[in-house]
Amino acid sequence: MSKEENLECSFCGRKKAETDLLIAGVDAHICDKCIEQAHGIVEEEVSDTKTSDLSKDLTLKKPLEIKTFLDQYIIGQDETKRAMAVAVYNHYKRLLQTNDDDDVEIEKSNIVLVGETGTGKTLVAKTIARMLNVPFAIVDATVLTQAGYVGEDVESILSKLLQTADYDVEKAQRGIVFIDEIDKIARKGDNPSITRDVSGEGVQQALLKLLEGTVVNVAPKGGRKHPEQKFVEVNTKEILFIAGGAFSGIERIISKRLNMQAVGFSASLDDDKVDEENLLQYVIPSDLKAFGLIPEIIGRLPVLSYMNPLDAVVLRAILTEPKNAIIKQYTKLFRMDDVEFTIEEGALNYIVGKAVEYKLGARGLRSLCEAIFTDAMYELPSSEEKVLNVTSAYAEAKLTNTTLKKLKAAS
Ligand code: ADP
Repeated sequence: MSKEENLECSFCGRKKAETDLLIAGVDAHICDKCIEQAHGIVEEEVSDTKTSDLSKDLTLKKPLEIKTFLDQYIIGQDETKRAMAVAVYNHYKRLLQTNDDDDVEIEKSNIVLVGETGTGKTLVAKTIARMLNVPFAIVDATVLTQAGYVGEDVESILSKLLQTADYDVEKAQRGIVFIDEIDKIARKGDNPSITRDVSGEGVQQALLKLLEGTVVNVAPKGGRKHPEQKFVEVNTKEILFIAGGAFSGIERIISKRLNMQAVGFSASLDDDKVDEENLLQYVIPSDLKAFGLIPEIIGRLPVLSYMNPLDAVVLRAILTEPKNAIIKQYTKLFRMDDVEFTIEEGALNYIVGKAVEYKLGARGLRSLCEAIFTDAMYELPSSEEKVLNVTSAYAEAKLTNTTLKKLKAAS
């Protein structure tokens, strides 16, 4: 027998001939089968440490630190940032609670945010998830229908979360779900039995259990398109739900309530003047009920906060201040082509002015910048010119009326 054939795996003792591959080390050999087995052990160990890392992370941030983190990405909206910081802190305290000492059980602190579109509701939820390093899914309440009807069952929410968690159920169970447009599933009329309200109250009913905490059989790939897939059990007990909606018209409900209170307690309201410009700040759970959310849903979204409309000062700050502010992104893009990009205060104010004039909101800021910088981003990479200073005249010249009208129509 040749010396070569005498070789064997130092771990399992298989002869070289019995293996597909035998790798030599300094004083030993290892076969393909042992490598595979060892790899399995490593994977298992790593995933175990990942789980314990998660619980370690969860103890870290106090409300003040959470707020400070949010401040880096979100301008203003202080009331919501504070409410969210406390809610999230309590949520994770709830996850860490031990049941042994008393009968007090901390309940979920799911959140509902009321505010016009584009005021940062999704951004706040996304930023919280980023800070906690937990999976985050955005779902649109308008596509949800009661089970059995055309559309998506509420369980599809969890399929999305599973997908963002790379199908790691443990991870998904600690994730955050943002339910957008929750106002669109409000009850349409006072008498739901007249027309079958499949996308309204029925969905609210279906959502109840999910919000509170239940075990759901989830089709990992979602929908009914993959009938052969195995269901996965997901427990929603530890999932934090953040719902958001514009609730357009709720100001009327708030105003009516405030006026009624004013009649009853006119003396006390005199020194506490109502800010008619921003009625959302007075929103209370009963306003959501009057809008058409059922009391049980409101009860399961115990933290209620509101978003302020974005004025010129906030829009101006959004352009340059957040950690990944739009202007910082353009500066980086240009720098990658060795172009030194600067923008004058006048140009920034011009952009903000147009966003306000055409009611484009914060999302419009990006479209305006895109319209102004596209020519430069097209030409400069192949040009000798390596400096771009954007003045208000430059911005004005690039932004034609046609572009503005288009942006307005698209907003
Ligand atoms: P909503 O969910 O309320 O419709 P988004 O969170 O999607 O609004 O906000 C749209 C975009 O506007 C965000 O991606 C962000 O760039 C910007 N934005 C809105 N509000 C703020 C804010 N307060 N601070 C920083 N950026 C904001």
